[in-house]
Amino acid sequence: MAKYDYLIIGAGLFGATIAQQLTKKGFKVLVIDQRPHLGGNCYTEAKDGINIHKYGAHIFHTSNDQVWQYVNQFARFNHYVNRPKVHYQNKIYSFPINLMTLYQLWNVTTPEQAQKKLDTVKIPNPNPQNLEEWILSQVGREIYEIFIKGYTTKQWDRDPKELPSFIIKRLPIRLTFDDNYFNDCYQGIPIGGYTSMIQKMLEGIELKLNTDFFSDRKNLTSQAKHMVFTGKIDKYFNYCHQELEYRSLRFETEKLSIPDFQGNAVINYTDAAVPYTRIIEHKHFEFLTTDHTYVTHEYPDTWTTKKIPYYPVNNDANTQIYQKYQTLAQKEKNVFFGGRLAEYKYYDMDDTIEAAFNLLKRLP
Ligand code: FAD
Repeated sequence: MAKYDYLIIGAGLFGATIAQQLTKKGFKVLVIDQRPHLGGNCYTEAKDGINIHKYGAHIFHTSNDQVWQYVNQFARFNHYVNRPKVHYQNKIYSFPINLMTLYQLWNVTTPEQAQKKLDTVKIPNPNPQNLEEWILSQVGREIYEIFIKGYTTKQWDRDPKELPSFIIKRLPIRLTFDDNYFNDCYQGIPIGGYTSMIQKMLEGIELKLNTDFFSDRKNLTSQAKHMVFTGKIDKYFNYCHQELEYRSLRFETEKLSIPDFQGNAVINYTDAAVPYTRIIEHKHFEFLTTDHTYVTHEYPDTWTTKKIPYYPVNNDANTQIYQKYQTLAQKEKNVFFGGRLAEYKYYDMDDTIEAAFNLLKRLP
């Protein structure tokens, strides 16, 4: 007789949402995670009164009312709005590109002046063949060099000439002074950190950390009637259709005995000569006034199976491989797949919760 109705593999936001909702419906649930903590990549670690975003800066933003109401049951959100800056060759620029950025670049002071200048710098191209050509046709060489070229090269370890233009689906240039990175209705950081929010979601639910599903697959599978798997789908099927590719990241975090290092939570370093892509100063997510601070340098990294898979590489080859795994997944009995690793998809946190809500409708 199975001890649990559901075994949830992964205590990230997807697994936590599924576990919380199933438990609310009266099912008996066990959640496992291979890491020593819950929260997946949203995990925040409290250090000297500051919540460190251990796996990269996480800003919650959504326009989905259902998702927003859902997370607000487990945390109060502060008024943080993401207004990153760009650092390029010792100059700071307002970002995402807006009228202030164009003023800093070209001294234009009105939307009309900005539009005129933009029209003169664009390099028309009716049939752009790659990312570089497409961006040059949209914004010209200066903006491309300062904001896109070095950053994209570092992020993907490839020259933008070798990248398809769909990687940057749209290049928002605002001819207003709006420098809010996101266009969503709701935005903020959970007060107390994401870990505390996800702990609340999992309150009263059995959780086993440091437990890798693949190390005890047979035994764990036998303990539940159904499983929801949020880990890597290719690994679940023993890589029978090749490995899916990822980009990884490396984070270097240090404590500084000064109250403020950079005056902002996120500064992007877009110069190709600087090896990191961003510096995060965590205290600014929470408006803290401590006399110390923590900063993290974020470096893009080549992925190997020993590293954390951060970003799926959704090119044609990987999409085809993923589709083969998806076909296998559909044939599995009593196992359901979801979340960023099982669906091989970049999901923002709100998309993750929405995807979990959608899967819940299909669960027995
Ligand atoms: P995960 O968080 O990866 O959780 C999956 C869990 O499954 C992990 O804890 C893992 O340890 C566990 N697991 C995997 N395999 C096994 C196994 N074999 N056995 C046991 N456990 C296993 N979203 C936003 O909305 N805003 C942001 O600002 C933002 N910033 C981001 C920055 C970075 C650098 C990255 C990479 C992502 C960012 N995201 C952001 C996206 C956000 O991280 C995801 O939406 C979210 O983490 C997805 O949750 P998940 O549960 O699907 O995956």
